[in-house]
Amino acid sequence: MSDIQSEIQTDSAVPDTSAIRFSDFGLSADILRALSDQGYVNPTPIQAQAIPIVLQGRDVMGAAQTGTGKTAGFSLPIIQLLLAHANTSASPARHPVRALILTPTRELADQVADNVKAYSRHTALRSTVVFGGIDMAPQTAALRAGVEIVIATPGRLLDHVQQKTLNLSQTQILVMDEADRMLDMGFLPDLQRIINLLPTERQNLMFSATFSGEIKKLASSFLKNPVTIEVARSNATADNVTQTMYRVDDGTKPDAVSHIIRERNLKQVIVFSNTKIGASKLARHLENEGVKASAIHGDKTQNERMAALEAFKQGEIEVLVATDVAARGLDIAELPCVINFDLPYNAEDYVHRIGRTGRAGASGDAISLYSEKDERLLVDIEKMIKHKFVRAELTGFVPKPAFERPARREGAERNGERRDRGDRSETRGSSSERSTHHTRSAYTSTPISRKEKIDPWFLKPYEPTVPTDAANGAASNAPQAGASIKPPKHKLAALLGGAPKR
Ligand code: AMP
Repeated sequence: MSDIQSEIQTDSAVPDTSAIRFSDFGLSADILRALSDQGYVNPTPIQAQAIPIVLQGRDVMGAAQTGTGKTAGFSLPIIQLLLAHANTSASPARHPVRALILTPTRELADQVADNVKAYSRHTALRSTVVFGGIDMAPQTAALRAGVEIVIATPGRLLDHVQQKTLNLSQTQILVMDEADRMLDMGFLPDLQRIINLLPTERQNLMFSATFSGEIKKLASSFLKNPVTIEVARSNATADNVTQTMYRVDDGTKPDAVSHIIRERNLKQVIVFSNTKIGASKLARHLENEGVKASAIHGDKTQNERMAALEAFKQGEIEVLVATDVAARGLDIAELPCVINFDLPYNAEDYVHRIGRTGRAGASGDAISLYSEKDERLLVDIEKMIKHKFVRAELTGFVPKPAFERPARREGAERNGERRDRGDRSETRGSSSERSTHHTRSAYTSTPISRKEKIDPWFLKPYEPTVPTDAANGAASNAPQAGASIKPPKHKLAALLGGAPKR
């Protein structure tokens, strides 16, 4: 296969931080020990810039791409600043919430919380995570016991405030992680409500992969004289990711995905679909082709999503087919490849998607499939990342005629997929691009008209995926900060904070 590949170069020079050590920042020995446990040797460029500024107590506006190490960039100095308050008292009053980290998604909250837990493990500081979709009781218990660092999604945080299980009157540091995502997801009113609950004297840190006018407005409304940190040009794609655009006919995309997976012998890949139903169908197609695949999207329960991620991490699943909403905030270090089954309706989502690979300096492949009708989406992406793609042909790919497609395996019927409630796209954006000039295949993610035949599999009642431990009772297994993650059986993408847990 002779791929024509195009490398994206960002024009900002990434500073060399190999001569800088974490000990240069004056971090405590307990934090340095935790970093060495994690296997970190040198700070990443965003860390080298952010840590000293946050330690000075300054507000920060960070233009941080995914995978740059921004989580440690803000959490290490926060832990250092809070060390003065660390104590082993059993009294909740001695452990007020002093730092609040807001994230747009449950998965990101969980991952940030895992990192914070790891970095503070040798200190007496307490941290916990709260997010929706699971029982509130264990979160309530953790909050009532007293905790210095809370990582939360906005909605559930407000639920706790309303139930008076959380008091933010002593919160001295606020972090908004993936602020652009929070605005995209309509969290602005919640953010404003939360900001109003905090003391006016506080330090504010805001991180965002992209900087729209809206984000700048939000930043100017609550950041005080911020230092802007920018490691790479905003709206640029990770420069260590090789990006390839393959032109294929719409109806042959599922076969093209299995062809790429086979040809490249991919053992761990996230495939992005614009729609929930498209994700489910593609996962099923891949399963029929003998690829271990699972879909994660907004119609899956929190436990189903967690179980799928865990299976992916353990290597039991090779391919996660995800929508943007479901994949948001997934920190998957060393993921070698992402595939865009659909080009995203929002060019910004392209940046987020390909940021799932090539994280923290590792190299990665981002492969996208597009068809004639996607030309406009492709041009939007090119404008955003300021790069013109070579439109490549997927050489060696011979799509199977429809009648040769394997019949659905029994297992696919039992794989616990929830019945999709519709084919609603999870990404925002104009719908004009959804019009198609092609005959629609059973696999395209364009909306299905009522008259079209609907696969009866999607009309089957929901059968939950059991008996994984994760699926057995959300309450008892509600993930908390630092929830233990089994080490992978073999070296695979390490979810949640890079270095495997010890
Ligand atoms: P983040 O951008 O914060 O999501 O981090 C991306 C990944 O890089 C995570 O898996 C981190 O554990 C890892 N990471 C963060 N800082 C470092 C570092 N200084 N050295 C090596 N890996 C790191």
